[in-house]
Amino acid sequence: MGENSIECKSMVDENFEDSPNAVIKFSPPLYRQRYQFVKDLVVQHEPKKIADFGCGDSSLLWMLKFHKCIELLVGVDIKEDKLRRKEYKLSPLIGDYLKPREQTLTVTLYHGSVVERDSRLCGFDLITCIELIEHLDSEDLAKFPKVVFGFLSPAMVVISTPNSEFNPLFPVVKFRDSDHKFEWTRIQFQTWALDVADRYGYLVEFTGVGKPPARAEDVGYCTQIGIFKKNPTRAAEVCDPELHGEHVYKIVYTTTYPSLQQKKYRQYAVVNEVVSQVHDMRRALLERLKLQDDRDFEDMPEDTDTPEALFESFHPVLTPLNDHMEKTPKPFCIGNVFYVPLERLFSLPKVKHLCINIEMLKTLIADTVMLNSDGSAVMVNMYDQENDD
Ligand code: SAM
Repeated sequence: MGENSIECKSMVDENFEDSPNAVIKFSPPLYRQRYQFVKDLVVQHEPKKIADFGCGDSSLLWMLKFHKCIELLVGVDIKEDKLRRKEYKLSPLIGDYLKPREQTLTVTLYHGSVVERDSRLCGFDLITCIELIEHLDSEDLAKFPKVVFGFLSPAMVVISTPNSEFNPLFPVVKFRDSDHKFEWTRIQFQTWALDVADRYGYLVEFTGVGKPPARAEDVGYCTQIGIFKKNPTRAAEVCDPELHGEHVYKIVYTTTYPSLQQKKYRQYAVVNEVVSQVHDMRRALLERLKLQDDRDFEDMPEDTDTPEALFESFHPVLTPLNDHMEKTPKPFCIGNVFYVPLERLFSLPKVKHLCINIEMLKTLIADTVMLNSDGSAVMVNMYDQENDD
């Protein structure tokens, strides 16, 4: 964008008061302030489904994918090459597999235009159009509200566009970007936005990013922003994707992140937790045995066939977790085999969070972890590290 290609300092340069062409520096850069604005809205409203129209190289989508609330993240742009430029950045990384998300996240990039109707984008929680509308010619600008507000009918829409009143502070000729078809004053944008909101049953608030410099406050924000929310008192028509079934966009890229909603990732997570907890308990016991051994080697029983006595005072390194755990059956040893009752494991908060009940815990670990004959406890060899590591 024109305004971002200007070298950045955090303030107006010293000649500003004398020169209408002073160089403005935004810190952070203006595009980042716009993305941050959207991020803050996401934190505040926790939308599950978000579409970014005119997403360009998907930088905003990339920033949003880290939000746990989001389950569907869609980018649409009319330029396929732009979409492809950084699509790799949207792929899950190794960390996403090691620590899967709680909820599913699907990210999809579509090649298409904001003035075409595609029912896969109906009924989203949030649609963002960041620095998009000024790229639409008058014909497309007229179609835009019908598609976005009338057809897709999201709960919230954020539209940002340059505020032309700020332009005299830039060394620009007419528009900030050669592809801009127009740049609006605040009154022009607000008149258009209020009319759209009124026609499609939305309420709109205005704000912006890119504060004007001291003594130029009257020009307003460099980027003006309209936040449209469905007016609850006006039941706007909701787009039913089933009824419309229009799929005109081309999928350029799609990926689904690993999540605990998928059985195999939940299984990994439960098995990892169980194995590491059982090992911790066993290590604690071995250390205890060693201490005792060091203190009184002579008195140690040669055969540990009935070593329950050793466990009388054995408390795994899990305290202080909860009182409930203390009430569950303790780990025990028979011969060289160390047993941890599933009831005990299920009382651990992390395991409980991952499994609805003990039966589910049993099902998820049964293929990977050795269970005793009635399936009520995990069993590992007390001394054989290799077997169970
Ligand atoms: N939203 C991005 C951002 O803020 O970094 C990119 C903004 S860029 C100035 C405008 C984007 O809108 C470009 O990527 C352009 O290809 C896209 N665009 C223009 N007309 C469009 C249309 N009719 N439908 C979808 N995207 C369009």
